[in-house]
Amino acid sequence: MKKTPKLNRRGFVKVSTGVLASIPVFVTNSSSAQDLPVIAVDDPLAEALAYVEDSTTVNKERFPNHTEEQLCSSCSFYTGEADAEFGPCSIFPGKSVATSGWCSVWAIKPAES
Ligand code: SF4
Repeated sequence: MKKTPKLNRRGFVKVSTGVLASIPVFVTNSSSAQDLPVIAVDDPLAEALAYVEDSTTVNKERFPNHTEEQLCSSCSFYTGEADAEFGPCSIFPGKSVATSGWCSVWAIKPAES
């Protein structure tokens, strides 16, 4: 029966260093908010929250309290630039939403002091 060689501390360090060196390192740039993929309106969460890219198309019968002023750009969950076309929303992590969009969890952005 063949004995398996024991690995001492020095051998372990050599082997583990070699293994670590062989693992590719993926350097990611911190992508800007504008680089985020746009949320699809047929995304399950977007559908569940009745997200639309154009706030003027909100179903008034279903959401009678919706007003023209309710836009993603004025929502407290929107964290992008107000004058951008799209930006990040904390409800849809890793995605961007249309600043002219809307969804049913819209909440007014607090006034800046
Ligand atoms: Fe737009 Fe606010 Fe809904 Fe996000 S939570 S999609 S910013 S309305």
